[in-house]
Order: sequence, then structure tokens, then C-alpha cells
Amino acid sequence: MSKQGNIRISSENMMPIIKKWLYSDKDIFLREIVANGADAITKFKKLAEMGEAPAYEGEFCIKISVDKDAKTLSVEDNGIGMTEDEVEKYITQIAFSGAADFLAKYEQAGGEGIIGHFGLGFYSAYMVSENIEIFTKSYREDAKGVHWESDGESTYTIEECDRAERGTKIVMHIADAEKEFLDEGRIRSLVEKYCAFMPYNIYLNYTGKEDKPLNDTQPLYLKNPKDCTEEEYKEFYRKTFHDYHDPLFWIHLNMDYPFRLKGILYFPKVKSKVELERGKVKLYCNQVFIADNIKEVIPEYLLLLNGVIDCPDIPLNVSRSFLQNDRQVQKISRHITKKVADKLTGLFKEDLEKFKNCWSDLSVFIKLGCIKDEDFYSKVKDIIIFKDLNGDYRTLADFAGKKEEPAADAGEEKKEEKKEESKEPVTVYYVSDEAGQSQYISMFKNAGLNAIVCDTFIDPHFISYLEFKETGKYRFLRIDADVDAALKESESKEEDNKELVEAFKAALKNTKIAVKAEKLKNADVPAVINVSEFSRRFGEMNAFYGLAGADADADMTIIINTANAAVQAFIGLDDEKRKFVANQIYYMAMLSYKKLAPEEMQEFSQNNMALLKQFIG
Ligand code: ADP
Ligand code: MG
Repeated sequence: MSKQGNIRISSENMMPIIKKWLYSDKDIFLREIVANGADAITKFKKLAEMGEAPAYEGEFCIKISVDKDAKTLSVEDNGIGMTEDEVEKYITQIAFSGAADFLAKYEQAGGEGIIGHFGLGFYSAYMVSENIEIFTKSYREDAKGVHWESDGESTYTIEECDRAERGTKIVMHIADAEKEFLDEGRIRSLVEKYCAFMPYNIYLNYTGKEDKPLNDTQPLYLKNPKDCTEEEYKEFYRKTFHDYHDPLFWIHLNMDYPFRLKGILYFPKVKSKVELERGKVKLYCNQVFIADNIKEVIPEYLLLLNGVIDCPDIPLNVSRSFLQNDRQVQKISRHITKKVADKLTGLFKEDLEKFKNCWSDLSVFIKLGCIKDEDFYSKVKDIIIFKDLNGDYRTLADFAGKKEEPAADAGEEKKEEKKEESKEPVTVYYVSDEAGQSQYISMFKNAGLNAIVCDTFIDPHFISYLEFKETGKYRFLRIDADVDAALKESESKEEDNKELVEAFKAALKNTKIAVKAEKLKNADVPAVINVSEFSRRFGEMNAFYGLAGADADADMTIIINTANAAVQAFIGLDDEKRKFVANQIYYMAMLSYKKLAPEEMQEFSQNNMALLKQFIG
């Protein structure tokens, strides 16, 4: 006998709204339907374990089939099944009212994404179907088959039917506009995305025993870390992230208390230095995929990693902003951060060589983590290393403590100690472009000085962060700032060079630049450009924010080297030659700083041509 009924909850207007809001990821319907099948199997297994249902010897599985001609997509499980009363209650009433609840929550959250969309459940299949049929038979001994059908709008029918097997088959009549869900390839990729680790075998268009399931019901992350081999970790990585470069190393998360958290985080090899590839951290709930890269759960900088995290304790049918403030979620997030920091400090202590080798792949990630998360900074600050001019990697404390003064002797150390006591910030010179600053680098090396290399996009921010966090401890100066202090031979008085400076100024075409004379350690270089660290950073910051900034050139000084023969000869020349020599020295210095204007470049070439002609005679 067939029965008809009206769906009590007014759903006529629900569907267009749900469709519109969920448009971007309506494919979650497949996850919901398959997950329902898995739930039904789990329920049956529990009952069987308790002796309330007969034991079943066969394979528990979910079979998905696509029938292009009939325009149907079906999902069948051999789980608990439903009686007629249960279909009425769980589907007609609960599933539909669940969708109404979901809608209300969604509205409350201002249409903002609800994590995972859990709560929409069975009803979500109407996003792609014009009609849905359910064929089901309960595990109960005298149960009869039940057939239910509805277009999801207002009416449904329910009747007895012949069904031999226990379990449920959901037949979705796919709407014309959603034809893509009748494509086997599309369904396969959806199963791979959402159901990769579901706990029961999933088959697509099952033909026989030889068929291989699409999913991995025992993903590696569920195993005890003690029982996992290196090859297994790599294999899992390749399969899950389709990255054929081996990861650098990984962290296996595995805890049950005070919250359940399992997963593996991989540190990938960074493929390009400039453009950091965004990783992927997939969030699962009891082996069901929820979403990628949920920054409310996983600190944003950790999203540069690749990983899977399964955390059944995260409330999923809530809005993202709620998650952000949820204490449980915060605890989970902090735990993950701690594990990552532990792994890094452990590697630093136990295998410094490997740590150094991985540094170029890790550095941006660690620095970003420090800037974003003070907690993380305090945990890893002592293992941050920098490359110096000799290509050695060392910590800042190590670097700042052992300045490479020429002719180091026993008296040195005492001086160093005093420095610490007086709490003067230690000056640390850095290079932002090894090729472009090569002139400065060679002068520094010549003078027995060293510097660290800070050439990633994050370094300027990181340097400012360090100065702020370690107030008064370090002062960072780019290698072309404060050149005179670093490279001068001895203290000289301003009066000594007054005549030279005035004459040089008078001869220079660039009237904006300041002129200073010093005796530098390296006599070969006639002049160097010095740019104030402060004004350069200010200019960079303005450029970064797209503001019209202070003109960095205004704070530029040319330091002419009184140890250099050309500079020494300068004062004895006539006006015309002075002009030629002063500007030539200026152009050379500017070229080392990489800042010649086009017209300056042109004149520099003309001057060089003139010199060449003289040389040839
Ligand atoms: P939820 O899964 O969150 O309870 P759904 O809307 O997905 O919400 O499903 C509603 C209910 O319908 C389920 O709780 C379950 O009782 C029943 N149900 C759905 N699919 C199946 C199935 N394949 N086998 C047995 N019961 C099912
Ligand atoms: Mg469900």
C-alpha cells in the first residue's frame, strides 16, 4: 500500500537559497550521502557486536554507480537500513528539518561559511537532484523493504517494496543542469577528495570481486607512530599530495587526551625561493574530509606545510568566526604549534647538519611563524640561523658574540664581555642582495668584517620584528649603511678634510648628495655610497604600502676615501679636471650601489670613452 504525504516543513523556498549559498561547493552532497552510508554500517556493526543484530560475514562496503542513460547516481550501503517508520522519522522529518536548521544557522552567520557544512546531510543531495528515491531494508528480522520518493519540495510517497538485502540505496535523479555528476571521472575525483580515508571500502560501478576500492580505509596517520616506517611516510605523502619530491621531514600527531587529534604534517621542499608555494593542510573528522586550509584551526603560517589532520572534537556545524574563539579549537591549534616547534628544535639539537641543509626550505616558514605568533617565536628563537659571508650558518647570538676582528688576541674577549655589560645593542650588518652589493661585501671581507645574508622577501619584516622583540640587543644595518663607521681606518676630524670636501662638492653635478671624507681601510676604492638605514627602511615601507615615500636619495652620502690615490690627487687638479674626476668617482660609487640614473649612465659612458681615447693616444 502506498502512502502520500506533505512535507511539514515548508521547503519550497529553501532549495533556491541553499543552492545559491552553497553553489561553490555543492559537490559536498556526495560526501554527505556516502558518510551516511558509512554511519549506517558503523551502527550495524555496533549492534552486531552487542548481539542485537545477526553477525555478518561479508564485506561491509559502499557501492556508487552512475547510470548515464537513466540519469541516476546511486549510493548503496549494507548498513543498518531503515523501517518505514524510521524513513518517515529520519528522512521526512529530521533530514528536512535538519536542513531548515542549517539554513537558520547559515543566516545567523551572515551567509559566512559554515565549516564543512555538516548539518545539511541527506537534504544536500537535492542541490543536484530533481528527484530522489530511497530503497531500504532494516536489519530487523521481520523488516520489509521500503521505497520512498520525493522531489524535495513539498510532497513525498512511501510504500513497501521488494528488497532482499539489508541496507540502503539512495538513487539520485540528477537534474539536467548538473549533468557533470553523471560523469564517472568527476565522481571518482569527488570520492578521492572527500572520501579518501573513509573507514569502509568504496567502489565505483562495481563489477566483481576483482574491483579495487577507491579509498584507503586505514590511512597511515591512524597508525601508531612506532609502527610506521620512513618509506610508508613518504609513500603516504606522495599519494596524498601528488608531490614527487620527498618531504624534508614530518611530524606524526597522535593523541587522545584532552582532545582527539591524529595526523601527519610534512615539511615540503620549497620549490621556488621567491614565490613560496602554498601547502595544503586537509582537515578530517573521523576520516571524512571537511576542508582544506582552515586557518581558524591551524595557524596560518602552518598552512605552508602539507598535512592531514583528523580531529573529531572540532565543532563543525558552526561558523568560522565561532571557531576562531572556541577554546577547544585554540588548545588544538596551540598543541599543533608546540609539536612543530618541538620537532624543529629537536632537529637543531640532534642533527644540526640536516637542519642547516634544510634551512633554505624552512627559513621563510619559521620567520613568518615568528612574526605571526609570539608563542612560536619564543620556542624557536634560539634555533634561527643566518648564512654569513663565508657561507657558514650560525645563530644570531653566535654571530653577534664572535665578531671577526682582525688580529684577535686574548685582550679581545675582555672587550667583548664589557660590551655585554654595558648593554649597548650589538650592530649586525646584513646583505640583502649578494650580487648587487658585491663591492661592499669585498670591502667588508677585506676589513675582516662579516655580515649575514637576509635576502628573502620576509627578511626586512623579520629584522624589524627582531629589533622590536629583542629591544636594545641588536641593531641591524644593511652593509651599505654606516659604511664609514665600519670601514674607516681611524677617527678623523672634520676640519682635516674640509677643503677636500668643499672642492669635491663644488665639482659634483649631483648637488643633493652629502659629501664626507674618511680614510678607509681599503685604499683601492675611491668612494662609497652610504645610505641611512632609517630613511632607506622608511622609503621601503612606504613603497610596500604604495605610499609616496621619503626620497631615500636625500639621505645618501658619498664617502670619499682619503687613502685612495685618485682622491689624494684631486685637490691638485684644475677646475675642469676636478669636475671630470669628481663625477667619475661618483658614478663608480653609484654603480656599486646600483643607482645610476639613465642620464648619469650616459655621461659615465661618455667619460669612459674619453678616457679610452686618451689611452689609445
Ligand atoms: P545526520 O547524518 O547528520 O544525522 P542526515 O540528514 O545526513 O543527518 O541524515 C538523517 C538521518 O537519516 C540519519 O541520522 C539516519 O538516521 C538516516 N539515514 C540517512 N542515510 C541513511 C542510510 N544510508 N542508512 C540508514 N539511515 C540513514
Ligand atoms: Mg549525515
